[in-house]
Amino acid sequence: MSRVPSRNSAPEICLRQALFAQGLRYRLNAKSLPCKPDIVFPSARLAIFVHGCFWHQHDMCPKARMPKTRTDFWAEKFRRNKNRDTRNIRELREVEWTAVIVWECELKRPNRLAEIVMETATFVRR
Ligand SMILES: [Zn+2]
Repeated sequence: MSRVPSRNSAPEICLRQALFAQGLRYRLNAKSLPCKPDIVFPSARLAIFVHGCFWHQHDMCPKARMPKTRTDFWAEKFRRNKNRDTRNIRELREVEWTAVIVWECELKRPNRLAEIVMETATFVRR
């Protein structure tokens, strides 16, 4: 675990497949954006970030526990990840996009995954 798994993680693929199965056609990048969300719907101006609970320190999530060794290193790494996440969302709002964060642990609950897909479909097709 030496680097942040940035693209094509298992949770990202899971969500993409679920969206695709509902007929939703996303893109993986939008060149005009100031950051790189994981999934984008350019015509709806919707950007989705799929966050790993550990790397992005999901609040109150059991997967977001601080490692017991090298705590200074991890604290700094998590702090930087969180700052980047905050900045990304702010930058998207500035260009009038909607940013959504989906957590890895949500995708493991079939009911929650179905809800996320439905909410996305409603947003994209409105
Ligand atoms: Zn989580």
